[in-house]
This record gives sequence, structure tokens and C-alpha cells, in this order.
Amino acid sequence: MLAQYVDVAERYDDAVVLFRVGDFYKAFCEAADEVARICELTRIEREDSTGTYTACGIPVDNAPKYLKRLLDAEYRVAVADQVEDAEAASGLVERAVTQVLTPGTVVEEELLAAGSNTYVACVASAEGGTGDGTGPSDPEDEDQNGTDPAYGVAHVDVSTGECAVTAGDAAAVDEELARIGPAELLCGPGVDPGVADGADCMRTERDPETFDPEAARAVLDRYADSDRFDDAERVACGALLSYAEYTQGDDGPLEYVRRVRRYDPRRSLRLDATALRGLELFENHVGSGRTLFDTLDETRSALGRRRLRAWLRRPLVDRGAIEARHDAVAAFAERTLVREDVREALSAAYDLERLAGRISRGRANARDLRSLHDTLAAVPAIRDAVADVGALAEVRADLDPLEDLRELIDAAVVEEPPQEITEGGVIRAGYDDELDEVRSTAREGREWIANLEERERERTGIDTLEVGYTQVHGYYIEVTNGQLDKVPEDYTRRQTLKNSERFYTPELKRREDEILGAEERADAMEYELFADLRDGIAEESDRIGALADAVARVDALAALATAAVERDYVRPEMNADGVHLRRSRHPVVEGTAEEFVPNDADLPRGTVALITGPNMSGKSTYMRQVALAVVLAQAGSFVPAETARLPVIDRVFTRVGASDDIAGGESTFMREMRELTDVLHDATGDSLVLLDEVGRGTSTTDGRAIARAAVEFLHDETGATTLFATHYHELTDLADEHDRVVNRHFAATERDGEVTFLHRIRDGAASSSYGVEVAALAGVPDSVVARARDLVADDRDDASDRSAAGDDAVAATPQRTLDEIAANGHETSPAPAPSGSRRDREVADLLAELRDLTLAETTPLEALNRLHELQRRAEEASDGSDGRDTDAGVSDESRGEDGGTPGGGSP
Ligand code: ADP
Repeated sequence: MLAQYVDVAERYDDAVVLFRVGDFYKAFCEAADEVARICELTRIEREDSTGTYTACGIPVDNAPKYLKRLLDAEYRVAVADQVEDAEAASGLVERAVTQVLTPGTVVEEELLAAGSNTYVACVASAEGGTGDGTGPSDPEDEDQNGTDPAYGVAHVDVSTGECAVTAGDAAAVDEELARIGPAELLCGPGVDPGVADGADCMRTERDPETFDPEAARAVLDRYADSDRFDDAERVACGALLSYAEYTQGDDGPLEYVRRVRRYDPRRSLRLDATALRGLELFENHVGSGRTLFDTLDETRSALGRRRLRAWLRRPLVDRGAIEARHDAVAAFAERTLVREDVREALSAAYDLERLAGRISRGRANARDLRSLHDTLAAVPAIRDAVADVGALAEVRADLDPLEDLRELIDAAVVEEPPQEITEGGVIRAGYDDELDEVRSTAREGREWIANLEERERERTGIDTLEVGYTQVHGYYIEVTNGQLDKVPEDYTRRQTLKNSERFYTPELKRREDEILGAEERADAMEYELFADLRDGIAEESDRIGALADAVARVDALAALATAAVERDYVRPEMNADGVHLRRSRHPVVEGTAEEFVPNDADLPRGTVALITGPNMSGKSTYMRQVALAVVLAQAGSFVPAETARLPVIDRVFTRVGASDDIAGGESTFMREMRELTDVLHDATGDSLVLLDEVGRGTSTTDGRAIARAAVEFLHDETGATTLFATHYHELTDLADEHDRVVNRHFAATERDGEVTFLHRIRDGAASSSYGVEVAALAGVPDSVVARARDLVADDRDDASDRSAAGDDAVAATPQRTLDEIAANGHETSPAPAPSGSRRDREVADLLAELRDLTLAETTPLEALNRLHELQRRAEEASDGSDGRDTDAGVSDESRGEDGGTPGGGSP
């Protein structure tokens, strides 16, 4: 057996081989050491003629638990079963690998997460296995419209049969892999190793032959018309399906992969890995433990749960489709009873997709068919509930309850069948005449035997006579020793016990054979009938698939409606020129914050909002909530706000809170700049861009320069609607020079001797020295605060001197290096005396504003207001106080919220 094991292990050298021996799956030698370590099992030393070796065993009954551990540790497991009847075998039982379990291809219900998909993905270049190994031409140069896309990316969920493929350049591959989130990844030989770097999952090596374009085409032909796909897609998909077939121990196609979908990622709202992570759609990084998906998940079935995930992962960009989803959600939201009826009915739904998969794979048992039956039985209730709802007419039409299948299963399979399908008790009486006849033979035989005891007692006069049965000897008639003299002639002795003898009669023997034969036949017939039924249902997998799709949709829609009602979301209008949210909230934070402060967002298309304010004041929460409103709306959900008017966004870019995830190997600054590059490169006028503290990872001068240049680029070139949080207060003057740059700020105040953040967004920039003000509020010693204030003032004067000289190192020459700046002397020149210059600047500002007033276009009332404002500022400037409550931002809030007495500063 060990030789047999070694032989199999050599053929499956990338897997741990488990050998079925009796009630165990056994591993030997080195594999035994690994399995024992990971599964925490005992290793046993064995000895044979060749020497000693180790072994360990996984109990078959408890196998899933241990297999899961091996898969979690990223092992492949090849299960070799006995493929010949152990009793019939002469010598060693033949064994063969019947299945290879891998993290991305498992189909066992016990090993899968219920509400999510398990994907294996594959990236390949068009050259496939015959490529020269250098990969396609530089993907950076690639013009998507001109040349063929460089790579195909395919993914399949082997448990449900969902399979799809697309193509794109290296960046698109990265983005797709982030969205697919595969558990396992294959890369073709021509693929640049860096392309799939971002995918955090197990890598699987495959024979380069399987990526050969002709080989891949041959495999794909079994599933779809290969000509529909471009070269790279064909290679990726063919190689992937060949791998899926291999893992299922099949040499034929996987029947339940019914369709290979080809898709264009640009036809959904694009969210790259950084956005998915930064917005915490599915993964949480900062401790609250909740994600957007968790917050929204009111689904009732595994089908619906997977669908809702898919919707969030790929929100729509087609306004008609978005509004159709909103219509359906609104319909559910408005009708509490309909919603409740539907959700109640959905609770009875099993996972139709995986059931269909098991049925097609020939792995479903009778309980699975009953589950299918029960799910089908729930469909009419869903249909009825939504009968009069116009917005749900379409999905209702797709809810075909498959009455014929349901009746068929009900007629064939008993209500509570056993787990095993080979031991009878599965098929109902009346389903098959022949089976009924065989069963009645068995039944009559048993009845005859049941009555035998009484008949024989009467006939023989032996009143202690008993009829019984043992596994080994079969039926017998037992007579105690005292009455042996009454035993009739036709009794033959079978067995002698201490106090009695056991006999049989020719008739009993005949009956016994008849019963056992009939029972055995009945079991075999039942199995055959069941397998036929299962095959017949497998033929209908298209219809089951269509129903599964409709059930998934209904569940996801009803879930979104439930979330909308329970969390008080509003239906967004999707025709806006820009993002307009009234009293919007962050869907996740509002559930955890003690008291969430709603905020407005008014961002006409192409606006760049510069957001200033101290740390912890709520900047990144605000930015995220705006982006989440967009994602939610385009996924079909309502949004957490009082009113919402939104445009259709093509792509959301985020660089928020990146300090949480310092990537291995790369400096944070380098990573930040790479992400910035992606944004500046790819954002369009229809994109939403969130940038948080751009340039933080380098020197202030460089960082400020990069941030300013980025804002200018976004404003002038890209036109993307942008939220730009920054510590560089100097940037806020960009609003003066650029039409669509606006300033917003968050502020802090002091309450009961503590720094308090009001989390309320305000127009205008925060105070230039809010950091110092927060330090003061926090209780930093007065002398330190005073000194810090002086230094801030110095710095500002410096900057204004530089811009007066027309040589602002920050604004005018952002491309210069630190060395150049230093050579020019501005960074190192001594600071001018601080006294008076702050006030001078304010005076200069006032004069400039006065000069710039266009009186011809000003109404008398406006003029009066402006005059009043200018006068107020003039007074403040001549006060010239530098006291702790004179700065805008911080004191702004004290004025607004706490009735404090503010001094100067520009709001
Ligand atoms: P920043 O980005 O300015 O450093 P954050 O957005 O991370 O600040 O917010 C800091 C904390 O304040 C978070 O823990 C969050 O829970 C809370 N917070 C943010 N915005 C609000 C709000 N609008 N209402 C209530 N709490 C908020």
C-alpha cells in the first residue's frame, strides 16, 4: 500500500495525498508529518520490511473539520478513494484520486462560506504557453482603444458554476482581481509577475501546456463558442476551466458551468483595490468591526447575500438600470406587508445555486432534492406577495416556481429521507410499480415471518417457541432444551446454545431469501430511480439557474428596502449635475457613534473642495460618507441622508486613511505617490476623487508643492469632483484663483475644559493655526502655545514675503527639488521680524478686495453687506490681538455653537 501511496503522491506532487483506508483518510511519510502538524493529530511510527515510516489518519466521519484546516493553511489535498469493492478485490484494493480539494475550488458545503462566493481566478496573456516568457508589450503604453488588451482575467465559482472573463491591461487586471477577491490564482507563463501582485491569495502553478492557445481553445469550446472571446480571454478561460475540471476529478466538462459570461469592467462603477479597502465595503480596518456590507445585509438567503455583495462590488453606471433598482427598492420600502411576506417566504429558501451545482455534479442526495422542493414551494408565496406591485413585475415574471419539478420531486422522494441514498427509504410508495411490487414481496415475507411464531406454537404445542433474527445466521426458530422432544420433523438444526437449540424450516429459508433478495433489489432500484430523477433534474439546470437569479434579486432588493426603512435612508435622484446631499450620514459610523452629526455636501460637477481642520475632527468620515452615498446609490440602494441628488459617477478614487496600511516593502510615501499617479492619470470629469493629506509622507515644502500641483491638475485638467483634505493651510488660497475650488473646514472647540470636535462641516478654511489652537485647548502649557503662535506667524510672513517677491517656492514652482529651493536661499533665509506684518497682510487683503469690488454689478443691499463685513474685518485687523480665541476655525465654532467672543481671522 505504501508503494501505491508513493506512486499517487508522485503524480500529485503539488498536493497532500490522503488515502482512504477503512474509516480513515491516511497520510504517510513526510505528508503525515505535515498533516499531523496542521490538523493536530497524532503521528504513528510504523515498521515494515523496508524500514520505519510515519503515518497519521483523519477520521472519515469528521473529515471536513480537518480538510478545512489544510485548505486554510493553503494546501491542496488530493483524496484517493477505493475505486474497487474491498471485499471483491484480490490483494491490494485499487485506489485513485477522485477529487483534488484546493482553497479556490472546493464544493463541499461544510468547507464553503454560505453567503459569499469562492472563486479561483486566472490571468493569462494571449500568447499563452507558447509565449516567449517576456509578456506582452509594455502595458503602460497601451492604448485600450487601439491594441488588443494585454491580459485575460477569468474567474469561476466551482460550487455554483458562475464563470466570467474579461480583458485589460496590467492596471485593469489588478483592479479586477481586487474586485473578484479570489481564494486561488493561476498565472499563465507569459504574465509579468508584478501584474497580480496585489492579489492576496494562494498561487497555483499549472503546466504551461494548459495555457497553450490551442489547448485552451479546445477546453473552452466545451463550454462556449470560443470565437466570442478575444485571444487573451480565451487562454485565461480555457486554462482556468481545465484546472477546474482537474480538481473535480473529472475528465469531462463541468456540466453546471452553463454559461461563460464576458464582461466589460467599465460598465460598472469602478472601484479599485484602494477604494474597496479605503471605503471598507467588505473589510474593516479600523476596529469598529463593521463594514458597509454588514450594515446593509438584511438578506434572508445565501443567494441574496451573494447577490448583494456582487451589487456593492460592481455598482451600475447605467442610469436607467440604477433607477429601475431604486423603483423596486421603493416599492418594497413603501409596502411593509409585502416586504415582510416576501422575506418570510425567502427564509425557507435554500441555496439554489449550490443545490443545482450538486445535482449536476451527481453529488446531491435525497435531502438535497427535498431542499430544492421546499425552496420551489416557497416561490408562489413570493410571487403572490408582489403580484400587484408594478415596479416588481419584471422580477415576478422571472419567479417561475418550476411546478413540474416540484411535483416530480414530491411524488418521488419521501418527506424525510435518510442521508445515504444507497440504503433505501428514499423513494415514495406509488412512484414506481416495479419497486412497489418488490417491496410488497419483502413486506409479505416479513409479515409471514411475523406471524410464524404464533402458527408454530400452535402447530407444535411448544409454548416457549420463539422466532428471531441474527445478522450472521438469519431467521431462526428457537426451542428451549426442555421442549426439544416436541420439535417436528421438518425442523433443521442451525445452532446450539447453552439452554436452547435454533432451527429453520425449508419454507423459512425460502422466505428469508425472498425477503433479503427483495430488500436488496429494492435498495438498488431506489438508488437507480433516484439517480435517474437527479439526472432528469440536472437537465433542467438552466431553469433552476434562472429562478435562482430571480430569487437572489428579490432578496437583495427586499434587503435594501429593509435597510432603507430601518435606517432611514432616502431615495436618491440620479440626474444631478454634481453631488448634492442634505444632512448626509456615514452609514457605518452612524451606527457606532454616540451621536452622529449629519452634514451637507454641495459639490457641483468638477468642484474641488479643500477640507481643513484638526485631526479627529471628522474629515475622513465626511469624505467617505460622500463616496459611500455614491456607491450605495449606484448599487441600487437608498442613501443615508435627508435628500440626495447625485450624478452617475464612473469611478471612485480614494486615498483616505492610508496610514492604517503600510504596504510591505514599499515606503508609505512611494505608495502614496503611486496611488496619486493612478488618480491623476485615470480620473475623468465624471469621477469622484477623495484625497486625504496628499504629500504627508515627505518634507513640508515638497508635500505642500505636490498637494498644490495635484489640486491644480484636478481642477484644470481632470475636472473630477474632488474632496481634498489637507493640513497645508496655504492651499486654501487656491479658492481665490480657481472658480471651482471651494474651502470647507471642520473645527474644534472647548467644552468643559476638554477639546471637543463638533464634526460639523463649515464653509471657508479652518484657521491657519488650528493645530496650535487644539494644542492650547488640550492644555499644552501657555508658554509653549505662545511660542508656537509666534512661530506660525513668522512662517506665514515668510510665505507672504515670498509670494510678494513673485517667487513663491510653494505655489509658483512646485516642480523644483528641495535642493534648488535651498540654493535659492528662501528656505534658509532669516525670518523677518514678526511684528505688525500679520496685520499688514490683512490690510493689504482688505484694500485688494475693496479695489476689486465691481460696483456696477452690485445691488445696494449686497454693497451694504460687503461694506459691513469689510468694516468688521478692518476693526479686527486694527485690534491686532494674537490671543487664543482670535483664530477662525476654532473660535468660529465657539462663536457659532457656544456664543464665545471671537476675534479676527478669515473664516
Ligand atoms: P479626521 O479624518 O479629521 O482625523 P475622522 O473622520 O477620522 O477625523 O473622525 C474622527 C472620529 O470622529 C471618528 O472616530 C468618528 O467616529 C467621529 N466622527 C467623525 N464624523 C462624525 C460625525 N459627523 N458625527 C459624529 N462622530 C463623528
